[in-house]
Amino acid sequence: MTNKPRKATASAQSIMRIFTVPEAPESTLSKIEHALSEDLAGFLTQNIVALEKPLSAIEEDFQAHEIPAEPTFVSDYTEEMMQNLVAHSVHTAAPSFIGHMTSAMPYFVLPLSKMMVGLNQNLVKIETSKAFTPLERQVLGMMHHLVYGADAHFYQQWMHSANHSLGAFCSGGTVANITALWIARNQLLKADGDFPGVGSAGLMAALRHYGWQDLAILVSERGHYSLGKAADLLGIGRQNIVTIPTDANNKVDVAKMREKAASLTAAGIRIMAIVGVAGTTETGNIDPLPQLADLAAEYQCHFHVDGAWGGASLMSSKYRYLLAGIERADSVTIDAHKQLYAPMGAGMVLFRDPTLARAIIHHAEYILRRGSKDLGSQTLEGSRPGMAMLVHACLNIIGHHGYEILINNSLEKARFFAGLIKQHGDFELISEPELCLLTYRYVPQRVQQALTAAIAQHDWDKVNRINALLNELTLLIQKSQREQGKSFVSRTRLQPARYQRQTVTVLRVVLANPLTTEQILRDVLTEEQQLAARQPELLQRLLATC
Ligand SMILES: *Cc1c(COP(=O)(O)O)cnc(C)c1O
Repeated sequence: MTNKPRKATASAQSIMRIFTVPEAPESTLSKIEHALSEDLAGFLTQNIVALEKPLSAIEEDFQAHEIPAEPTFVSDYTEEMMQNLVAHSVHTAAPSFIGHMTSAMPYFVLPLSKMMVGLNQNLVKIETSKAFTPLERQVLGMMHHLVYGADAHFYQQWMHSANHSLGAFCSGGTVANITALWIARNQLLKADGDFPGVGSAGLMAALRHYGWQDLAILVSERGHYSLGKAADLLGIGRQNIVTIPTDANNKVDVAKMREKAASLTAAGIRIMAIVGVAGTTETGNIDPLPQLADLAAEYQCHFHVDGAWGGASLMSSKYRYLLAGIERADSVTIDAHKQLYAPMGAGMVLFRDPTLARAIIHHAEYILRRGSKDLGSQTLEGSRPGMAMLVHACLNIIGHHGYEILINNSLEKARFFAGLIKQHGDFELISEPELCLLTYRYVPQRVQQALTAAIAQHDWDKVNRINALLNELTLLIQKSQREQGKSFVSRTRLQPARYQRQTVTVLRVVLANPLTTEQILRDVLTEEQQLAARQPELLQRLLATC
């Protein structure tokens, strides 16, 4: 289809039809709907086809700056979008797309999301989401139970209680983390005598009232960038996210955090929160949560655990122990759109204490009235879709045991891949998978031997020269693999202890897609080896350095 979309002329009558008349069964849109519901994976594979088109060329298709004056026929518009948009989308559900935290979704999510959009409930208030509000509260209750495991009486009492929340549902981990730190801030700088609390008086008045120079949030250097956004928004300042080095396993060094907490406190700076990461974005490691909980108790500050990605691993009774201590957190972030297999736009923050969210409670006259069960009085976002329904569907249809199988498979697949990398003469595993995320790079065997020898001789200059060339090579491999479009791994930069914290570029893999097979993983390595062989000049220089 290269025809230009036909233009109609808007009339009162034709515009009204958009809201009332359904598509004819033979229309393009109906055919697409049918194809989508028959075989989503097939639809994606058949229609995401134009891998080689550069972004700048795609931008030209989205260049017009005026809203089209007159209506376009639905079929024409849809056909145009199949070519301009769908064809150039990223096939995030492909089993060989193993570089990010997105995965294939269970088939039932698609028809249910259509129903959700059709119902168009607004979760900000009961008046527009009568049954969806209790459903969302139940989802939060189930996730709260997964993390904190309180007894039946607890959930009986709090799950549907007005002015209490077991958590907040939101668009993702970023908003979840902001919400947690917002609560931590308001809890610390609460009303006191004549002082009305930071929410009313602002940060400067609050610090004056409490007599502190400043506030600080302590987190590992592997903390997610959303914490910086939160600190910025909350007036705490990005600089006051104090990052603490990690050990050789990418876990925060608690002794160093304790020293830092002491020196900040001595300088009149109040520790507002300690954030533990349960599954870092770059390496998938889990901080020592029990020790962080102890430290937070010592400093009487809020303890938040960012389990946006890793929190779902709690579903596995086999591997749950890896997150031990998470139940001591005041708040925990978990994204359902990562390892719970819900579509994008489903984040949660859970509160151990159901009264915690009172720190941010907000009332208005026409909605969110005092004593109402409107969720919007205790959430950052206002109007919000019924995404909780899709999480509810996943929790019910997959079930705890189903998730356990999925999570165990992901973790074991990551261990299998780590084994492949270690056995392979020309690859180096950089970070072991604690959950289902690992990093590695292509290093020809001779170069590996040279690196090992140079490290033994403490020849850090030489190690540095080799790493610099390897960084170039890793970058080229990752880029060309992405452009080739057969498979996708991501890349990041780490400072491994083995290389005395020299920065190395690494390939990063997240193995959450249940459809990724062991053969695909073998093929990914073979492809990377072939891509490396296409850089003879760089390989030559590399070998010359050895
Ligand atoms: C993904 C992630 C976030 C941010 O979540 P979004 O859903 O992208 O907003 C925060 N923390 C960690 C550890 C994450 O992996």
